Amino acid sequence: MSLIEVDKLTKRYGDVAALREVSFTIDEGEWIAVMGPSGSGKTTLVNLLSCLDRPTSGAIRIAGRDLSGRAPEDLAVFRREHVGLVFQQFHLIPYLTALENVMLAQYLHSMEDEPEARKALEEVGLGERMGHLPGQLSGGEQQRVCIARALINHPKIVLADEPTGNLDEGNEQSVMGIFARLHNEGRTIVMVTHDPEIGRLANRRFELHHGALTGVTRSTHEEEEMFEEVLQQLWEAEEAAGGEDCADRPSLLEIRGVLMSMLSKGLVHPSDGGFAMTDAGRGRARDLVRRHRLAERLFRDTLEMPREALEATACAFEHVLSEAAADSICRFLSHPATCPHGKPIPRGACCAAPAVSGE
Ligand code: ADP
Ligand code: MG
Repeated sequence: MSLIEVDKLTKRYGDVAALREVSFTIDEGEWIAVMGPSGSGKTTLVNLLSCLDRPTSGAIRIAGRDLSGRAPEDLAVFRREHVGLVFQQFHLIPYLTALENVMLAQYLHSMEDEPEARKALEEVGLGERMGHLPGQLSGGEQQRVCIARALINHPKIVLADEPTGNLDEGNEQSVMGIFARLHNEGRTIVMVTHDPEIGRLANRRFELHHGALTGVTRSTHEEEEMFEEVLQQLWEAEEAAGGEDCADRPSLLEIRGVLMSMLSKGLVHPSDGGFAMTDAGRGRARDLVRRHRLAERLFRDTLEMPREALEATACAFEHVLSEAAADSICRFLSHPATCPHGKPIPRGACCAAPAVSGE
């Protein structure tokens, strides 16, 4: 059974249909990005899921409970128990410290517990700044206070409406790092965002247009391919500088959201202000580079594929070749030592015999 089930959800404000018969399900532990132009109904959807607002028609079931016909008091209780909310505008009380803001939220949940509030702030990296007022904190720090506040009831579901909308890039990265961790801990996240980079971090993307759900994209495969590209770039960056590049790819190393996601999957670790491959990441990179360079050798030298055609398709080889296919190519080519550009081909299990082919 899905954690969240939405059936023909419609919300009208007078003549405006903010949502039109939207239906979907979300499984426990999924990370959903809700995307779409301004005015397409994203905030309306989040407000309905969080029971801050009530639908005109249609059903919402969360954890098997039908929320459609419930009284406002019931909905408030449900929200307190199951949902954590993070907004673009932080909604912090300006004359209360970070700690007091979190404790105020506890008070509203009838559960004051200062050690717990301190722990929540420590978990979002604000251990040193608990006594600061919102005005003394950066945007990213304020948003982290909001995340700590949203987590005090240990919600299964975290709903976030453009949580990085008011943040600069550095702060965006730290906030997205926290969401990646929450996702890893098994929480279900529904996040509205304009940012395609952030959208790619999610398991699926929901596209809204004029209140209608126009697309649901599963991005796991896409994401895996992107991880592989990044691993290859990290591998190439580790190789001696200079020489011809094996393929003309845009650098993915700038996409920090992707690296954050790879961090959470144990493929990279922070190093020298950047990221470096873990042993697991390096093992995978090695396989990919091997397949890629073997395929290049095969296509260019044996099949005499023109250079331009090769460059245009080179990026895809490693994603389609199996390990066994790579080993066959390697044997067929007598275990070549380098790719056509002269870069070393990592040895494989089939390469017990010394390499014969060079440039
Ligand atoms: P988004 O978050 O995607 O920018 P919204 O959900 O805020 O979009 O709004 C969707 C549509 O509903 C817009 O046309 C907006 O003007 C309208 N709308 C949203 N909230 C209200 C409201 N409280 N009263 C009247 N119209 C509203
Ligand atoms: Mg909005």
